[in-house]
Amino acid sequence: MKVAFSPIYRYDQLPEGHRFPMEKYDLLPQQLLYEGTLTQRDFFHPKRLTEEQILRTHTVDYWHKLKTGTLSKKEIRNTGFPFHPSLVERGRHIAHGTLQCAYHAMQEGVSLNIAGGTHHAYADRGEGFCIFNDIAIASNELLHAGAVDQILIVDLDVHQGNGTAKIFEHESRVFTFSIHCEHNYPLQKERSDLDIGLPDQTDDEPYLRVLKDVLPDLIRTVSPQMIFYLSGVDVIATDKLGRLAMSREGCRRRDEFVFEQCCEFGVPVAVAMGGGYSHRLSDIVAAHANTFKAAEEIFF
Ligand SMILES: [Zn+2]
Repeated sequence: MKVAFSPIYRYDQLPEGHRFPMEKYDLLPQQLLYEGTLTQRDFFHPKRLTEEQILRTHTVDYWHKLKTGTLSKKEIRNTGFPFHPSLVERGRHIAHGTLQCAYHAMQEGVSLNIAGGTHHAYADRGEGFCIFNDIAIASNELLHAGAVDQILIVDLDVHQGNGTAKIFEHESRVFTFSIHCEHNYPLQKERSDLDIGLPDQTDDEPYLRVLKDVLPDLIRTVSPQMIFYLSGVDVIATDKLGRLAMSREGCRRRDEFVFEQCCEFGVPVAVAMGGGYSHRLSDIVAAHANTFKAAEEIFF
């Protein structure tokens, strides 16, 4: 199973006590190796986005500000991270990882990135821990290369993929689907092609019922040649930023169902990890590790 990872994924410029659990990018690969889900050979180091690839999704103005470190204070604050050039470097590698995962998925059915799912990034600005919109960049790249002509984005992170929805607002070749917590960030939602906003404290059974009711028909209708799955684990009850009440087991069943459907319909799936902000780092890592285990079990 091909898994994108590089030590650059861990941004080391965060101040002590910052609420983003950056350590997960080190711990997750270690955990996957320790459990035997992956071996060292499964990992690949992603390359880096070219400017041309960035500019297929992001505006010239935004890219210029990132490149020259001239974002305004407010723009920096909106990203949720202190600015340093390595943040841009990191983002270029992560987003390229998602793109490479898509190509690997075409060969092997599935491929996963140990980061990404930066769905709050808009064409012209970063937001909510997202600088580049990796899935949007990868989608635009696949379409540009003529590798596919219909894509489905299944965004099950607890937060709505506002940036992605906006970027593909007028792009019929990319269908954006999001299940999220309605009364959660971003409070001002964009319109995806299909949005399902769940009430606070939704737990396993109603969540899974909605997913099972909708996803198979959606795949049948959209008929994608590639699915991007954003597998955020901030749906679980222990999450600080989630507001839903799923168990870790329910989250795993969610992932399994998505992979089973991709498998059944024969559609390659590239996975970007998305959020996970449980109080205990071990809960975050265990929940993300389940996604990788589910992929391994179902596809290999
Ligand atoms: Zn999230």
